[in-house]
Amino acid sequence: MLTVANLSKTSAPRVARRAALTRWQPSRGLATPSEPYDAIIIGGGPGGYVAAIKAAQLGLKTACIEKRGALGGTCLNVGCIPSKAMLNNSHIYHQTLHDIKKRGIDVEGVSLNLPQMLKAKDDSVAGLTRGVEILFKQNKVDYYKGTASFVSPTRLSVLLNEGGETELDGKNIVIATGSEVAPFPGGAVEIDEKQIVSSTGALNLQEVPKKLVVIGGGIIGLEMGSVWSRLGSEVTVVEFLGSIGGVGIDEEISKQFQKSLAKQGLKFKLNTKVLSAEKSDGKVFVKTEAAKDGKEETLEADVVLVAVGRRPVTTGLNLDKIGVEVDSKGRIVIDDQFNTTVQGVKCIGDVTFGPMLAHKAEEEGIAAAEYIHSGHGHVNYGTIPSVVYTHPEVAWVGRTEQDLKAAGVQYKIGKFPFIANSRAKTNLDTEGQVKFLAEKETDKILGVHIMGPNAGEMISEAVVAMEYGASTEDIARTTHAHPTLAEAFREAALAAYSGKAIHS
Ligand SMILES: Cc1cc2nc3c(=O)[nH]c(=O)nc-3n(C[C@H](O)[C@H](O)[C@H](O)COP(=O)(O)OP(=O)(O)OC[C@H]3O[C@@H](n4cnc5c(N)ncnc54)[C@H](O)[C@@H]3O)c2cc1C
Repeated sequence: MLTVANLSKTSAPRVARRAALTRWQPSRGLATPSEPYDAIIIGGGPGGYVAAIKAAQLGLKTACIEKRGALGGTCLNVGCIPSKAMLNNSHIYHQTLHDIKKRGIDVEGVSLNLPQMLKAKDDSVAGLTRGVEILFKQNKVDYYKGTASFVSPTRLSVLLNEGGETELDGKNIVIATGSEVAPFPGGAVEIDEKQIVSSTGALNLQEVPKKLVVIGGGIIGLEMGSVWSRLGSEVTVVEFLGSIGGVGIDEEISKQFQKSLAKQGLKFKLNTKVLSAEKSDGKVFVKTEAAKDGKEETLEADVVLVAVGRRPVTTGLNLDKIGVEVDSKGRIVIDDQFNTTVQGVKCIGDVTFGPMLAHKAEEEGIAAAEYIHSGHGHVNYGTIPSVVYTHPEVAWVGRTEQDLKAAGVQYKIGKFPFIANSRAKTNLDTEGQVKFLAEKETDKILGVHIMGPNAGEMISEAVVAMEYGASTEDIARTTHAHPTLAEAFREAALAAYSGKAIHS
């Protein structure tokens, strides 16, 4: 709520504050003192902007506050979208150099125009972030460009990007402030975003590094490692654990995936701890220690990417002041209806529990808006897919084989390799397989794991099936168009249900 009384309490000079307020043109007039917002969302990432649009669509008077100056959060600005632009275009470049000759296409003089590739990425980002702003206007969401902090559980102060400050009242407030790059534990590797970069710097390198060391073999490390490897870098991935792909990947698929990336030229040092990274003579020297025998080694790199995870953003929100609890990892504590420990204050996305994924944040955004509107909402955490957008892609949903073994669940497996799929063969793109895990007694699908072309699109079929509680027989008896990669999906289900696929 914007009031003269509130303004006079702020420390910014009155003139500057007035100027900021007159410059600011929300899509629908500012809330008046007698009319607090029904919902205010802090953060305009995939969680926050989707929550805001949904709330407005449900008829709630809604505002969204974003400090970045652009909507879309990590995902659109420095995450999913720019990384996928670089993955797609580096794949085309690599294919053009190494793959298309065998398809009967001769090209000469292929060269990399990195500034243009970076521009294509930036153009996609700019188009999409502007698109969200248009959606706000269409849906009548008031958009405040500024930094929010709590004055009380129903009042926020917003430090406007253009200068000055305002206060807003909300009957409901949703925290969707997301996550940021986690620094290297202990501070032994300092990110400068030039030679020692986070994913943000890795999306914007102005030259292809001759040698790139990636610390962390999770999804982000592997995607960015793939990009620069395709563009010509010698890439070494150092991973503390004994396998790649991060949390939730099926062990069998992880091993196949590692082999596939190794064939493409990526080197892996697993079970290896990074001790330090020091800059000297234009290089970075990364000291490592093997878990098995403590053997130390020094890797030389032109650029080092630190991809060891992300941490929740809560700094400056004044959570202590209103009593919102965070856990030992800095995540905001919520119940199963996204309520924080303070009534009227909800929380969604990367800043709270669960996988740090854009589609998880979006689902929570919709559900939180529905809870505010009607008291009912729903997210099925058992069917949130994960995708690694390398080539081949890797995608999964549900339980892994190692999970099921550990839990003592009786299960059966059905697999189908892409080498036996007619479309994959026609496309000369046959690496990988589809793997179904189903409950032995009931045939209910418990997990689906895919490595192969288009795995990221194909996994949606598994998500829908699991959402409806399908069995592998349900999939096996469903017609899939021929010739499509999706036939491999059906055949794997057939193998799980009847013990045998037709084409393998
Ligand atoms: C390189 C990379 C690649 C990724 N690729 C994928 C992918 O392919 N698929 C996928 O699902 N996920 C991917 N992710 C993860 C995805 O980006 C996040 O899970 C998602 O953005 C989380 O959404 P969110 O809305 O919770 O938070 P965020 O997107 O982080 O948005 C939070 C927003 O809140 C704003 N904010 C914070 N504090 C305040 C404040 N006090 N006042 C106002 N505004 C504030 C921030 O500026 C930010 O814009 C990737 C991430 C990275 C880094």
